Amino acid sequence: MYIVSLNTDNIVIMSNIELKNAGLKVTLPRVKILNKLESAENHHMSAEDIYKELINDGEVISLATVYRVLTQFEAANIAIRHHFDSDNGQAVFELNHGGHHDHMVSLKTGKVVEFYDDIIENRQKEIAKEHNFKITEHSLILYGEFSEED
Ligand SMILES: [Zn+2]
Repeated sequence: MYIVSLNTDNIVIMSNIELKNAGLKVTLPRVKILNKLESAENHHMSAEDIYKELINDGEVISLATVYRVLTQFEAANIAIRHHFDSDNGQAVFELNHGGHHDHMVSLKTGKVVEFYDDIIENRQKEIAKEHNFKITEHSLILYGEFSEED
C-alpha cells in the first residue's frame, strides 16, 4: 500500500520504499518510471506514453529502457500489463494497487476508464456458482467510445 500524493518528495520517498519492498534496487530510471505511473492522470500508460513524457521532461532515457523497467515491474508485481484491443494495440501498464476493478476502453483514442460495480461483481459470482465454477480471476473490458470523443 502506498499514498498517492501530488507532493513530489513524498512520491519519490514512497517509490523508493515500494521498489525496495519489491526486491528491486532503487535506480534512477525505475524511480522516474514509477513516478510517472503514480502521477498518471488516467492510471494507464503505454511504454511509449511514458517514454514521451520523460523525454518532454528533459530526461535522457531510451524506449528500450522504459520497456525493460516495465517488464521488471510486472515481474515484481508492482505493475499490471493490459492488452486492450484498442486501435493502437499497445500494451498499457498500471500500478498494482491490489484492488480489483474493470475497464472501459475507447476504440477511438485508447482512453481507459476504470470502474467497479458491486452488482456486476455479485452477479458474476452467482452465475459461476450456478455452473459449479470457481472463479480464480476475471477481467471485464467494455469497448466503445466516449461521447466527448466525437
Ligand atoms: Zn486499471
